[in-house]
Amino acid sequence: MNDLDPPGAIVVTHSDNFDPQLPANKDIAQPSGDRPTLDGQQDTATSPSARLQELRKLLNRASYAYYVLDDPFMEDAIYDRLYRELQDLETAFPELVTSDSPTQRVGDRPAEQFTSVQHNIPLYSLENAFDGADLRKWDERWRKIEALENAQYVCELKIDGSALALTYENGIFTRGATRGDGTTGEDITQNIKTIRSIPLRLNLEAIGLTTPPARVEIRGEAFLPLDTFEQINQERDNAGEARFANPRNAAAGTLRQLDSRIVAERQLDFFAYTLQFPEGQNLPDELQPQSQWDSLELLRSLGFRVNPNRRRCQSLGEVLSYFEDWDQKRHDLPYMTDGAVVKLDSKRLQRELGFTQKFPRWAIALKYPAEEVPTSMQRVTFQVGRTGKVTPVAELTPVQLAGTTVARATLHNGDRIAELNLHLGDTVIVRKAGEIIPEVVRVLPELRPAQAQPVSMPSHCPECHEPVVRPDGEVDTRCVNPSCPAIVRGALIHWVGRDALDIDGMGKKLVEQLVDKGLVKSMANLYGLTTEELASLERMGKKSAQNLVNAINQSKSRPWSRVLYGLGIRHVGSVNAQVLAQQFTTVETLAQAEPEAIAQVYGIGDEIAQAVHAWFQLPTNQQLIAQLQAAGLQLAGEAPAETGEQSLRGKTFVVTGTLPTLSRTEAKQRIEAAGGKVTGSVSKKTDYLVVGADAGSKLKKAEELGIEQLSEDQLEQLLAPSQAG
Ligand code: NAD
Repeated sequence: MNDLDPPGAIVVTHSDNFDPQLPANKDIAQPSGDRPTLDGQQDTATSPSARLQELRKLLNRASYAYYVLDDPFMEDAIYDRLYRELQDLETAFPELVTSDSPTQRVGDRPAEQFTSVQHNIPLYSLENAFDGADLRKWDERWRKIEALENAQYVCELKIDGSALALTYENGIFTRGATRGDGTTGEDITQNIKTIRSIPLRLNLEAIGLTTPPARVEIRGEAFLPLDTFEQINQERDNAGEARFANPRNAAAGTLRQLDSRIVAERQLDFFAYTLQFPEGQNLPDELQPQSQWDSLELLRSLGFRVNPNRRRCQSLGEVLSYFEDWDQKRHDLPYMTDGAVVKLDSKRLQRELGFTQKFPRWAIALKYPAEEVPTSMQRVTFQVGRTGKVTPVAELTPVQLAGTTVARATLHNGDRIAELNLHLGDTVIVRKAGEIIPEVVRVLPELRPAQAQPVSMPSHCPECHEPVVRPDGEVDTRCVNPSCPAIVRGALIHWVGRDALDIDGMGKKLVEQLVDKGLVKSMANLYGLTTEELASLERMGKKSAQNLVNAINQSKSRPWSRVLYGLGIRHVGSVNAQVLAQQFTTVETLAQAEPEAIAQVYGIGDEIAQAVHAWFQLPTNQQLIAQLQAAGLQLAGEAPAETGEQSLRGKTFVVTGTLPTLSRTEAKQRIEAAGGKVTGSVSKKTDYLVVGADAGSKLKKAEELGIEQLSEDQLEQLLAPSQAG
């Protein structure tokens, strides 16, 4: 079990998790930057032209793997961000744009095994927007061309499949092609015929048309339903073949199967989203759709599947609310969508705005936020926690990730750095672990600057400069100097926290000042502070200093269990501290107890017992206890059961998994009867996770957040004061 942080306090946690809000203690080297570049900046290795070339090379390789081999080696979201970076660089340095840049073309060249098809009207890609700001920019841009007060938008789901162009001559399906590079695709007519939702003959009767149009082209997205996708990957696993990375590549790969029987087995599906007539061959005026919305209706009448989850919107606000609605609901869809496509509804407006080399100006793809994004790592800093654990932290070029700006990410420990083969200046992929703490998950070595230096753990504590140690069998590097300011700061912040000595008015900033000024070197020193000393601190008046001295004095009456918790012994969270204080009613009995005796206590295991025993063996700790005793703190006395039935007041619980005897409802009722609150999901505000068998994601998240876990037995112990008997 992990030990606990004082909830609500911002600390370097005792489990020494990376705290994104804390400044790291010290830097190590920064990427060298000593060569002149085209824009006069330092460091050729990361100069715009070098970066541009690297990005171009990597993205071209990724496009080939994605479009031609149907076997991508990077996530779409990562591709999209790097692509955006390339675009920005090309905008800033237009002289560096080359015709082979991925920004200059749609898709990739068609595969050779199929006959090529020239598209009469190119199949374009879509511009990407990643948030409301991008969407507004797009809106402002087209409005500069067409000053319009009112424009309607049509929002459609962006189906994550493969674009198809279907030709119907005299109402009969004659040819189907992939998008290819936008102008040349592959003829896959035989395979398309296996898709049951694609009609082989248009239902012209439904729209009252007696003379079929000589030629019409329908465009839409072929996709694999998610269950079929899973099934195919299962079969590929069984056959020892590589899995498809996502349904889109599986759909594209299936469409390019040479054997149509295999395609038929895979049950592709298709949603149509547009129809086009060659110049001068339109439908009669009364049937001609004047809007995207009407086109979709017409496609439906002609016999196509049209995605029902579309909405006509009057404003960008409505567009964004459609997007947000579907961000929730998309997980219940039987197919994959990676965003929304926003189109101007009016066909007249679409015609007037036309296309850029790659995109229609009248449409944009609004993509769901990525869970992983690339960014560059400027340097590595090291954070020393209160147990002395040294956590390496990547300092990043700030990047938007799942709704927040991320500028720092944990690298966990030295092993992780080695595993990542991390170099200064690397482009790294960051992810939010459990949606809270960002971490570096991998690097893109292809984009590594020349002569980049590898990163390693420091040999000395960045804070007190004493040598650090890495005990055998442990992954963590630690500073073991008990007077290291970082350790002292961390220990004090824990001591003054709500669940420990709860010293009102003593926050993180104040503790930092006290330690930095050398006024306090241990918890015991707090009790000797004078009003004058406190009044000498920044932004501290005489009155506040007096209040603080009073608060410090009041903390002397906190019960023994809270003092024990405040000592910050490894693995001793507030529940364990209560249990131990009830059993060992004086500090002497606990200090003298053998580990075996401690481990006998209900709910306390060997690891905790060893940690407690070891803590009391250290002379510095024995001295601390003596000083605390002299200062008048409560180091004895049964942890008084808090009165009445409200012993869990103010505590938030989450119950997960199957408990041995209590049902979840019973556990909830008992916690609530003792004044506690039970919520459905784990967050920073959760105090305890009650864990039963087969616990899943909640347990994982609680572990990531360092939240204390309780077994049913431990919960009973906690309830005991109010519900005994
Ligand atoms: P895109 O997939 O971002 O958007 C365009 C496509 O959206 C259209 O061609 C169409 O097929 C499809 N679409 C789905 N629903 C639609 C609807 N309702 N209306 C209109 N169109 C709809 O663009 P793209 O050019 O096909 O591909 C570029 C994307 O491919 C990149 O943004 C990236 O995510 C991905 N990609 C990934 C890698 C990789 O290595 N992972 C490499 C290259 C490209």
